[in-house]
Amino acid sequence: MDAQKPAEGPDFRVGIAIAEVRDGGTVAGQVGDQPVLLSRRGSSYFAVGGSCTHYGGRLADGLIEGDHAHCPLHHACFSLRTGEALTAPAFDSLPRWRVDREGETLFVRDRLSVEERSGSDTSLHPERIVIVGGGAAGFAAAEMLRRRGFAGALTMLSADRAPPCDRPNLSKDYLAGTAPEDWIPLKGDDFYRDLKIDLRLEQEALGIDPRRKEVLLDGDRVLYDTLLLATGATPVRPVGEGFRLSNAFVLRSLADARAIITAAKGAHSVAILGASFIGLEAAASLRARGLEVHVVAPEAVPLQRVLGHEVGTFFRAIHEDHGVKFHLSLMAERFDGSELHLSDGSRIAADFIVLGVGVKPNTKLASAAALDVDNGVLVDRRMRTSDPAIFAAGDIARYFDPRVGEHIRVEHWVAAEQQGQAAAASMLGDDLAFSATPFFWSAHYDHSIRYVGHAQTWDTINIDGSLGPEGFIARYMKGGKLLAAASLGRDRESLQIQRSMDKEAARAAF
Ligand SMILES: Cc1cc2nc3c(=O)[nH]c(=O)nc-3n(C[C@H](O)[C@H](O)[C@H](O)COP(=O)(O)OP(=O)(O)OC[C@H]3O[C@@H](n4cnc5c(N)ncnc54)[C@H](O)[C@@H]3O)c2cc1C
Repeated sequence: MDAQKPAEGPDFRVGIAIAEVRDGGTVAGQVGDQPVLLSRRGSSYFAVGGSCTHYGGRLADGLIEGDHAHCPLHHACFSLRTGEALTAPAFDSLPRWRVDREGETLFVRDRLSVEERSGSDTSLHPERIVIVGGGAAGFAAAEMLRRRGFAGALTMLSADRAPPCDRPNLSKDYLAGTAPEDWIPLKGDDFYRDLKIDLRLEQEALGIDPRRKEVLLDGDRVLYDTLLLATGATPVRPVGEGFRLSNAFVLRSLADARAIITAAKGAHSVAILGASFIGLEAAASLRARGLEVHVVAPEAVPLQRVLGHEVGTFFRAIHEDHGVKFHLSLMAERFDGSELHLSDGSRIAADFIVLGVGVKPNTKLASAAALDVDNGVLVDRRMRTSDPAIFAAGDIARYFDPRVGEHIRVEHWVAAEQQGQAAAASMLGDDLAFSATPFFWSAHYDHSIRYVGHAQTWDTINIDGSLGPEGFIARYMKGGKLLAAASLGRDRESLQIQRSMDKEAARAAF
């Protein structure tokens, strides 16, 4: 987890001269030990909390644009006027304070209650909404539906045993043993009860009948007027002997993470198949637990496909410095329960293995319901599938990215949540097109990389800064156009690039 920074700046309780808060501007300060952002808009003044409600990022270190504050860590966006968490990954509003003017001085002393959030025209709302999926997109959609005033029946079906959880943490602090259990659920049981979200766990949807508007369960069915498919993806198990043994683990759900943690207790050595983000994050976390860690992958350089040769080599060195042993340009052929056999005839002793070789989007329900599916469920700009009553979001959704100029499907946490939020708005009849720039982050020991944009191929990588702890930005270009940027220690610039891409996408969309 990125550490919370202490509050800095003037103490607004003792007052600040109005002249120090320019019209249209925002000043970062504190009230007691709490960071606060004080904004002036004409003759109105607003004071909201200065720490992101997702992971505590200091908003003053991010971007303040107009009435919005963007968090530098995972790019949540808040309203400076109301404190509302406008876009994921934050859901809780910032606290608010009353701003008192006494002569030419402003004082911020008293907390205000959370402002009622804006709803939408309820006459356009359906009566029953069903969400299939209890992950990032499904959760964000359910929360946004209620936030926008949807008062009808809301059912959420999840094949998971656990309520929606902080999935990215499962390969990071949680797996490393440094995140307490109570960080993991996105919300407690009272959230679903209070918002009347009928969350049904271990309820796999077996089919959809679009004609009758029914989701089919084992011996039951649920009726919908509008349906959201947010079924995510399933880890791939490679073909080969032993990759289904009880000590061969995938990592997707909380149950998977718990099983790996149990296996790690008392284990000496683990082999990880796959040198992409999940595999390498798991490697870092299992090193933190003191295991000998081997990473086996067919590529010559870890993360090369997404980050390129140089940045991938840099990450390889970080892992090697922490004791990870790489076996690259090799295939894992079979696992006999205690040894992993590689394509060059060598063997690695491993008490267990972790399979991090990629995921497959769960599009079976959509295909069986005859929705348009092509490397993902095809959706329009409002996240609507080829059936007007069915929407899709998250890892399964393939949507048109106006900046890239083609349909893309991404497997990122924040993107899935933002798509869920966009789908919620569309399901309630709002006419908002989804055009957010994809963003993801990945953490390896104390190195957190941020990535904005989408680059499947590129012709040039411009690296600004040095590939070292001082930080860098790698820009992925094609034909002179910036497609994506990966950064380390340059969070504000990463946000700036994302915001300019967002604006470009919005312009291209209309
Ligand atoms: C360990 C791990 C670490 C990650 N770290 C990062 C990170 O650092 N940064 C980042 O950007 N991304 C990260 N990701 C990727 C990110 O978590 C996914 O992109 C995101 O969760 C996708 O959201 P989703 O809602 O589409 O799917 P999911 O979150 O996977 O949710 C899918 C849900 O659908 C349910 N489901 C599936 N089929 C059915 C069915 N037939 N009936 C009922 N329910 C069903 C599942 O049980 C699950 O509840 C990570 C992923 C993993 C596994």
